[in-house]
Amino acid sequence: MREASYYEPLANGKVWCTLCPHDCHIPDGARGACGVRYNHGGKLYTLVYDKVIAREVNPIEKKPLFHFYPGSFAYSISTVGCNLRCSFCQNWNISQWPKDHLPKHITASEEAPQPICPQLLNMEQHVPGESVTPVMIVAAAQKTGCLSISYTFTEPTIFFELAYETAVLARRQGLKNNFISNGFISEAPQRQLCTVLDAANIDFKFFKEESYRRISRARLQPILDAIQRYHELGVWLELTTMVIPGVNDSDEELTQIAEHIASLSVAIPWHVSAYYPAYKMWNHPPTNAATLRRAREIGLNAGLRYVYEGNIPGEGGENTYCYQCQSLLIERYGFTVIRNRIDDSRCPDCGAHIDGVGMSGQ
Ligand code: SF4
Repeated sequence: MREASYYEPLANGKVWCTLCPHDCHIPDGARGACGVRYNHGGKLYTLVYDKVIAREVNPIEKKPLFHFYPGSFAYSISTVGCNLRCSFCQNWNISQWPKDHLPKHITASEEAPQPICPQLLNMEQHVPGESVTPVMIVAAAQKTGCLSISYTFTEPTIFFELAYETAVLARRQGLKNNFISNGFISEAPQRQLCTVLDAANIDFKFFKEESYRRISRARLQPILDAIQRYHELGVWLELTTMVIPGVNDSDEELTQIAEHIASLSVAIPWHVSAYYPAYKMWNHPPTNAATLRRAREIGLNAGLRYVYEGNIPGEGGENTYCYQCQSLLIERYGFTVIRNRIDDSRCPDCGAHIDGVGMSGQ
């Protein structure tokens, strides 16, 4: 049971959560839009501080981060919950769990063994997850030989306290940290987080405000701002767009996204990945390889050095090529690195500097 970071008390027992741009004003006894931050008696609590729903070892390529220690492994954790509600969410069973399952208000259980705050304890008991501390997460990451810890699968912003404390400890133990996020985070918590983050992959879902509002219940501008801040604060940044037929696959929208990325830096890798029908979006066909190839060409034409096709293994779109001489540098199949020819962060054939962190294979 843990008091939340980033909130302000208001009149009449309400609180104002300032963790993400939703800026929820939450009455006593209710939760914010993410479903995991709960006002009890005028104090805001996180319901997921020690409720880890998933922890597993993943290749860093699965995040996807292709220019951050390629071939390494990331100890990957998440809790339930998300501050967005994308109708095509591929992890909806855990990201949307609190909204779909937790009761709106909970009263004290008579069986509860004299808790200090019966309603709060009772609410927390409804949240699924394993009681795992930052110390245990860091120890497990070291034991499994991981180079980094990934805060991933759902939206790590909403388990900020667990992620930040784990990241601080991980840093001290020589591990790296990466955040796999929708980018809907307020400036102050993002700046705090960036003091201990090494890399981030942020979703860049649409370039249309209307799509962000209708499909994801979010807004475009705060996400553009967060993307820019990650880049300016020196966190290694990669961006991902899930290309959905009939939604964001027009040449116009893909060009707008690619040109926006290029305006920040042509060295930012862009992952265009395939959508599969899921959650509440069943009326669009899965993305085919030709659409991803077209998206990749749009990215390269916008000047981006590295554009990858994701979620369709074996098509060759996961390889890293030199932007100067087109040599094959990193050969991948799905999430597996088959061969890495990068030498001292340079192309072995023409000597071009290859952007990223820990890129050398030799
Ligand atoms: S994290 Fe965002 S969605 Fe959740 S309560 Fe705070 S402002 Fe609302």
